[in-house]
Amino acid sequence: MRIAVLGATGRMGRHLVQEVVRHQNAQISGATARAASTFIGQDSGVIASGLANGVTIEADTAAVIARAQAVIDFTTVEASLTHMRLAAQAGAAYICGTTGFDEATSHNLDLAARHIPVIYAANFSIGVTILTAITQKVAAILDDSYDIEILEMHHRHKVDAPSGTALALGKAAAYGRQIDHTAQKRWLSAGITAARETGTIGYAALRGGNVIGEHNVIFAGKDERIELGHKASDRNLFAAGAVRAAIWSQQVKAGRYDMRDVLGLKTL
Ligand code: NAD
Repeated sequence: MRIAVLGATGRMGRHLVQEVVRHQNAQISGATARAASTFIGQDSGVIASGLANGVTIEADTAAVIARAQAVIDFTTVEASLTHMRLAAQAGAAYICGTTGFDEATSHNLDLAARHIPVIYAANFSIGVTILTAITQKVAAILDDSYDIEILEMHHRHKVDAPSGTALALGKAAAYGRQIDHTAQKRWLSAGITAARETGTIGYAALRGGNVIGEHNVIFAGKDERIELGHKASDRNLFAAGAVRAAIWSQQVKAGRYDMRDVLGLKTL
């Protein structure tokens, strides 16, 4: 299967290039970077791992997408909005891990999904996919006497907060509890704040060092606390999940999917 990696020079892009090359059922058909990138014209394998793979980094995203059966995109929201439109025009499956979409921009994923398989996950790891499913289940069991708090930590370069994964966990909790996530989500605020409101979902983020990604979902009751958590120790984890999703995309028709579909966990 021909897979293109968009944003191939980024932290995630380099892992994705290596993971596609390593996969026995995949071949890398193209790689892109920002038009102004100094990496344009260089071998994507050399940039990723020091080993040439013969696929150079290109600025012509439309041409790269046109040659692919599936594209994997871990870039920026602005770039991804263009990439998904080009993938829909070219008929290539679109696998997206970019975080930071708001409700309005994420609607564009639904529009593209009318034409092609779109697999979006704020976190492509198997462990977080399972954590999301369990969070939904636990939230469905416990009533709102258990306060839901979501705490995440990432490396110092991360630009969005709370993380896309934290928001996905909060949405899963809201879905399980059958409440409106948009109305109930609360961001940690400083100073003299009111007492915690019953039924809300609280978020807090820590940034520092080279932490790849840690997430904790806390259900805090009167006399007990349930803590569910996940720690990522290598970015390759996300790349492996995204390539698995790209291969899986070949068996499905146009539509919007997530990693729970890929792993068959929708019914957990
Ligand atoms: P990064 O800054 O290291 O890389 C981003 C890459 O996108 C850069 O190489 C940049 O050149 C490229 N880019 C920007 N605009 C582009 C364009 N128009 N065309 C082609 N390439 C373009 O960032 P990163 O750490 O690799 O993360 C990228 C995204 O992936 C972020 O949104 C991050 O939160 C997300 N992420 C998701 C998961 C997941 O599992 N879903 C895991 C890790 C990171």
